[in-house]
Amino acid sequence: MQFIDLQKQYLALKDKIDSRIEKVLSKANFIGGEEVGELSAKLAKYCGTEYCLTCANGTDALTLALRCFNVGRGDAVFVPDFTFFASAETPALEGATCVFVDVEERTFNLDADKLEEAIKETISDGKLTPKAIIAVDLFGLPANYIKIRKVADKYGLPVIEDGAQGFGGSIGEKKVCSFGDISTTSFFPAKPLGCYGDGGAIFTDNKDYYDLMCSLAVHGKGAFKYDNVRIGYNSRLDTVQAAVLLEKLDAFEKYEYAARNDIAKRYTQLLSGKFVTPLIPEKFGSSWAQYTLILNSGEERTHIQESLKKKNVPTMVYYPKPMHKQTAFSDLPDRSGKLQVSSKLSDTVLSIPMHPYLTAEEVEYIAKSLLEI
Ligand SMILES: *Cc1c(COP(=O)(O)O)cnc(C)c1O
Repeated sequence: MQFIDLQKQYLALKDKIDSRIEKVLSKANFIGGEEVGELSAKLAKYCGTEYCLTCANGTDALTLALRCFNVGRGDAVFVPDFTFFASAETPALEGATCVFVDVEERTFNLDADKLEEAIKETISDGKLTPKAIIAVDLFGLPANYIKIRKVADKYGLPVIEDGAQGFGGSIGEKKVCSFGDISTTSFFPAKPLGCYGDGGAIFTDNKDYYDLMCSLAVHGKGAFKYDNVRIGYNSRLDTVQAAVLLEKLDAFEKYEYAARNDIAKRYTQLLSGKFVTPLIPEKFGSSWAQYTLILNSGEERTHIQESLKKKNVPTMVYYPKPMHKQTAFSDLPDRSGKLQVSSKLSDTVLSIPMHPYLTAEEVEYIAKSLLEI
C-alpha cells in the first residue's frame, strides 16, 4: 500500500495525460505554450479570483507574494508555528523576522486570538514593524479567514494565504486561494492538485500586485523580456506541467475532490470515539491533503506507527518539529511558552494514507488495523 498513490492516479488518467504531453512534445513549445495560459484562466475561474499567475513552485509563489508588500529587514511577518518550513523560510529569506503564532489544536490552523496577541506584543516591543500575516491551509482545511481577516484589518496588515495544501477547500461558497490579498499554491506531486515535477500558482484580485509579480517572475521585465526594470527571478511553470495539470484539474473537479471527502468521512465514521479525528468546522470544506489523527503521546505514536508498518500500512508525521524548534530559527527570541499547542501536536500527530484512489476495502483495512492496536 502507498501513502499517496500517484501511480494509480496516472493509470486512471493515462490516455488523456499521454496525449496532452505528446501534443506539447510535437509542438516543442516547452516554455510558455498555450497550455500555460489555458491553465491560469481555468485556475482563476475555479478559485474565483480575477488573476492567476503560474510559477515554478509553491515556495517561489510565497516569495513573489511577499515582494508585493516590500517585506524586508526590520519587518515582522506572522506565521503559524505548525506548518511546512517554506511558509517561514520565505519571509526570512527576504530579511524579515518571523513571529511564530500558535495554532488551534483541532484544526491545526493559525489561532486568530493568539495572532492578535502576537501583533500587540510586537507593537509594544517596538523593535519590529508588523508587515504581513501568512496563514496556512494545513492538511487541506482553510484557516479561519473570517477571524483572521478581522485581526488583519484592525492592524492594517495584508494576509497572504499559503494554500499549498488547501487547493479545492472552501469556506461557504468561497474557495481556497481566494482568501488572501494574495494567495499561493503548490503543484508538488503529492499535493491535492499535483503535477509531474515542480509547479505553483499565485492568485489575487489586485491588478497592481498581479502586474508586479508577472514582472518579478521574468527577471523583473519591463516593456519586454530584455528590458529589466527591477531585480526579479526566473520562476515559471513549463508547458508539460501545465498540460498534465489541465487533465488533473478536470479529474479533481469531476470526482477526486469528492472521493477524498468520501474517504475522510469513512475514516471518521470508523475511528471517531476511539481516536481524535480531524475537525472540520461548520461551512468549511477540506481537500484532505492529509488525514491526521492526534494521539496521546509520542510513545503511543511510535508504537502505532511500528505496528501499522508490520501490517503494511504506511504512515507519516507532519510535522515532527514546529518552526520555533528548527535549528534555522534558533537565533530568534524564545517564545516557546506561547507555542505549546504546536509543540504538543508535533509530538502526537500521525497521518494515515490519503488519496482519491484508496479503495473502500483499503480504508476498512487501515481503520481495522488501527482499532486492533
Ligand atoms: C508544499 C508546501 C509549500 C511549498 O511548495 P513547493 O512547491 O514544494 O515549493 C509551501 N507551504 C506549504 C504549507 C506546503 O505544504
